Amino acid sequence: MERFWGVFIDGAQHAALSGNTFTVENPKNGEPIAQVAQGDAEDIERAIDAAEQAFPVWSGMAPAERANVLHRFADLFAKRLPDLIDLEVDQIGRPRREMAAQLARLPEWYTYFAAVARTYEDTVPPFSGQYLNYTRRVPLGVVGHVTPWNHPLLILTKKLAPSLAAGNTMVVKPSELAPLTPLLLGDLFKEAGVPDGVYNVVPGFGATAGQALTTSARVRKIDLTGGTETGRHVAAAGGKNLIRVSAELGGKASLIAFDDTDVDRIVSATLFASFIATGQTCVQGSRLLVHRSVHDAVVQKLVERAKQIRMGDPLDNSTQLGPMISAKQRDFVERYVQIGQQEDGATLVWGGQRPTAQGLADGYYIEPAIFTDVRANMRIAQEEIFGPLVCIIPFDTEEEAIALANDVPFGLANSVWTRDVARAHRVAHQLQSGIVWVNDHHRIDPASPWGGFKLSGMGRENGRVAYEEYTQIQNIIVNLSDQHFDWYADDGQPKRYS
Ligand code: NAD
Repeated sequence: MERFWGVFIDGAQHAALSGNTFTVENPKNGEPIAQVAQGDAEDIERAIDAAEQAFPVWSGMAPAERANVLHRFADLFAKRLPDLIDLEVDQIGRPRREMAAQLARLPEWYTYFAAVARTYEDTVPPFSGQYLNYTRRVPLGVVGHVTPWNHPLLILTKKLAPSLAAGNTMVVKPSELAPLTPLLLGDLFKEAGVPDGVYNVVPGFGATAGQALTTSARVRKIDLTGGTETGRHVAAAGGKNLIRVSAELGGKASLIAFDDTDVDRIVSATLFASFIATGQTCVQGSRLLVHRSVHDAVVQKLVERAKQIRMGDPLDNSTQLGPMISAKQRDFVERYVQIGQQEDGATLVWGGQRPTAQGLADGYYIEPAIFTDVRANMRIAQEEIFGPLVCIIPFDTEEEAIALANDVPFGLANSVWTRDVARAHRVAHQLQSGIVWVNDHHRIDPASPWGGFKLSGMGRENGRVAYEEYTQIQNIIVNLSDQHFDWYADDGQPKRYS
C-alpha cells in the first residue's frame, strides 16, 4: 500500500475536502508510489484563508528575524538531503547523481535571500522643498506558486526563498506529477520555526486547483513556471485581477560553437546541455549551431559518445540517463523523432528508439536523438520538444550564427563557445535571450537573474530583482517645515503650484 500524502494547510496535512485522491507513479517502471489528496477550489480557498491569517505574523517579523528562520531551514534542508534526493528520484526518474548535485545547492537560495532581506537598504530619493522622502519595500500579501515537474524542488525554491524573505505567505500548487517533495518541505518549515499558515501546499490538477489559485482575487501575485500556453492563460487571469504575474516558460536554446573551440569540448558541452535531465529542462540545448569546418568531426564524436551514455535505474549511482517523466512525454518526443524524419526531411543519425534492455522496457526510457541536415525553419528546430533531441545546424559566419539562434519564438537561454573574448561578448550582446553563457551551459546561482525574453516569459527569478518583485514600494513623504500651509486662505502668502 503506497503512502498517503494530504494537502498541507496551516501546518498540517489533511485529506482533500472532497476526499478525492490521485496516484503518483515512478517513471522507471510505472508503479504507483503514493496516493495524494486531490485538492480543488475549496481546498485552495482554505489554504488562502490560512495564508491570510499568517500574513500579519510573518510580515510583522523584522527581516533579520525572518532571515534567522531561513538559515535554520537551510540547515535542516541540508540534513534531510538524502530523503529529499531519494523522493525526488522516485517521483521524476532523474538519476540520483543529477538530483544529488542539484539539491545539495538549494540551501544556498535560502541563505542568499536571508542575506538580501537582512541587508536590503531602502532609498531616500531627492524631493523638492523641505522634505524627507524615503521608500519602504513591503511584502505583497498572499502569493501563489505554480510549479512544474522537471525540477520540483529547485524551481519551487527559486520562488520560495525570495517570497519568504520578503515577508509574503503562500499557497503552492505543485505539478500533479511531482507533488511529494513540496509536501515534505512543509514538515521542514514547521521544524525551522516558520509559523503555521505561511507555507501551504495544495496538490491537484491545473484545470481545477491551478485554475482556482490563479484566478483568485485574494492572491497578490502568481509566480508560474510551466509551458508557454499555461503562461498565456495564467497571465490573462492575472490581468483580470490586476495582480503581478511572473512566468518562466518554454525555451529553445542553442549552443553556438565556433571553430576555435576543441571538438571534444563542443561534444561534451552538447552532451551535457542536450541530454541532462533526459532533455527535460527549459534551457535544454535543442540546437547545436556549429561552424561548418568542424561540423563533421563534431557529429561523428557526438554519436560515439551518445552511444556510451548509460541508461538504467535512476537510484543506481552509475546511471547517467533516466526515463522521461511519463508515457505521454516519451510519446511526445517519439512523435518529434518521426516529424523530424518524415515531415521535416532531416536525418536521424542516432537514437530516438525505446531501449529494449532488461529493466528498461517497463519505464519511459528513450535513447537521445541526434539529427543532422536540419534547416532552422523545420519543426524540430522551432518547437519546444522538452526531451533529449538535438538538431545540428552548420554555419559559416558569426552573423549567420546569431541570426540562426535568434530565429525562434523563445528567448530563455543560449550558450556561446569560443576562445575569442571580443567575439564572445559581441555575440552575447546580439542574442535575444535572458541568459547567455560563454563557454558553459546551464549554470545557475541564487544571485544571478534568471528569466526569458520573447515567449519564454516575464519577470525574473534569482538575485535582488527577484526579492524586489516580491515586494511593493511604499513612498513616505515627510514635510519638515512647521509652517502652516493654507491653500484657501486669502493671506497674500505665496502658494505652491505643484
Ligand atoms: P505545464 O504548463 O503543463 O504545468 C505547469 C504547472 O501549471 C503545473 O503545476 C500545472 O498543473 C499547472 N497548470 C496547468 N494548466 C493550468 C491552468 N490552466 N491554470 C493554472 N495552472 C495550470 O508545464 P509542465 O509540463 O509541468 O513543465 C514543462 C514546461 O515548463 C516546459 O514548457 C518548460 O520549458 C517549462 N519550464 C520553464 C522553466 C523556466 O525557468 N523558464 C523551467 C522549467 C520548466
